[in-house]
Amino acid sequence: MEKYDYILIGTGQATGTILPELLQMKKKVAVVEEDRVGGLCVNYGCTPTKSLVAAALKAHHSRTGMEFGVETENVKINFPKVMERVNSIRNSNSTGFENWLKKTTDFFSGHGKFQSDHVVTIGDTQIYGETILIHTGTSSMVPNLPGLEKINYLDNRSILELKSLPEHLIVIGGSYIALEFAQIFRRFGSKVSIIQRSNHLVTKEDEDIAEITETVLKDEGIEIYCGTKITGFSESHGSVSVKFDHHDNPTEVSGTHLLIALGRKPNSENLGLENIGVETDKRGFITVDDNLKTTVENIYALGDINGRGAFTHTSVNDGQIFINNLKGGDWKISDRIPIHAMFIDPPLARVGITEKDAKKLEQKVLIATRPMARISRAYEKGETYGLIKLIIDEQSEMILGATVFGVGGDEIINLLAVCIQNNLTYKQIQRTVFAHPTVSELIPWIFDDLKPIS
Ligand SMILES: Cc1cc2nc3c(=O)[nH]c(=O)nc-3n(C[C@H](O)[C@H](O)[C@H](O)COP(=O)(O)OP(=O)(O)OC[C@H]3O[C@@H](n4cnc5c(N)ncnc54)[C@H](O)[C@@H]3O)c2cc1C
Repeated sequence: MEKYDYILIGTGQATGTILPELLQMKKKVAVVEEDRVGGLCVNYGCTPTKSLVAAALKAHHSRTGMEFGVETENVKINFPKVMERVNSIRNSNSTGFENWLKKTTDFFSGHGKFQSDHVVTIGDTQIYGETILIHTGTSSMVPNLPGLEKINYLDNRSILELKSLPEHLIVIGGSYIALEFAQIFRRFGSKVSIIQRSNHLVTKEDEDIAEITETVLKDEGIEIYCGTKITGFSESHGSVSVKFDHHDNPTEVSGTHLLIALGRKPNSENLGLENIGVETDKRGFITVDDNLKTTVENIYALGDINGRGAFTHTSVNDGQIFINNLKGGDWKISDRIPIHAMFIDPPLARVGITEKDAKKLEQKVLIATRPMARISRAYEKGETYGLIKLIIDEQSEMILGATVFGVGGDEIINLLAVCIQNNLTYKQIQRTVFAHPTVSELIPWIFDDLKPIS
């Protein structure tokens, strides 16, 4: 049996962070991948969706140019061409990565499964690893909804295989995957209906943020039903119907396509974990300590599979933690400041805590908000949806959380993350000169409006 210093099961997003370091340390590494190299982000997640978001934005700007005196007629979507671009971007990322892996490691194509705590099987092949990293990510969750099993529906993978535009896309879900696809297809010209169980979209955010999200999408002509309970699905002659109670009123929406975007489930089911004592939580996410170690000494779990993050940047950061600790450091998952963005247009980005989280704290907290409509650069761009919200710890004067929902929010949020990471006080930020005219230049001035949170 071939022996390795390290075996990586799955080519998740930390692979590119970990591998060069291991190779530089002259470690012998085996990599196992059962699908396309590069994982979810490159093949079925961030890369294709953000390429689609870009195409949808071009369409939107072309249609709305009239307000700026720019006349464009007959904006048409050539969907095969849109997908050709998306596929060329994701394929080149995946192929380049695969070629590199094959050159630098022993690459095994197939499903990796533990036979013992040091032995992994890929079909009939057995390999031995001193240390084994589980990096297997998540899959789209299929909810237990009445009648769903009898009909055809799309998920984040199959929607990328569509050859033509849906006439009417029904989206079940109200979080970022659901909403990004909803806006993309609406901007391509599909009719879009969103059906969401909770009373608001983006339930992890504050209510005012959810309300603006709903306004943005409704203003583009997306139909939104929040506060629903699905009672059944049916399909006939190219039409799919969803029956649901909408605030207790029986309602039915029929469309041509149905997208289920209701969360993710960990790819831990068929790994043989039960044979080796690697523990998982109730949902199947692998339990790790603050340094990514599982309940078995030589086995680590990185990325979405450990349930401690659900983004590419958290997975990459897991890779940094693993490598730094291997070199004698003491990086911890719990030191990571939560940050994310939802790439609808305008983007919604947050670092740290929400206002609703802040209200639960015992310490004194200050808050200030400024609508995008009162930020000149946003106004000049004609991008006035959204707001900036800043939450401060009164005693330390440091930022506890910030939401930037509006034009450029996905980039501006990183600036605020640097401030938090480096313990800058808001008064220090106020002393910084920002370039004019930018959206972020207002941040120092928004602090002038700080008042106790109520
Ligand atoms: C539609 C969509 C859009 C997204 N957009 C964003 C975004 O804009 N920003 C962001 O930060 N995140 C985004 N995400 C989330 C992001 O893709 C994931 O958080 C990210 O890929 C991290 O995953 P990972 O590194 O844990 O593993 P993954 O990228 O999921 O990779 C795991 C790999 O392991 C392989 N594998 C699984 N089991 C086995 C096995 N037993 N043997 C061999 N191989 C195996 C899989 O085939 C896969 O290639 C998006 C997700 C989706 C679905």
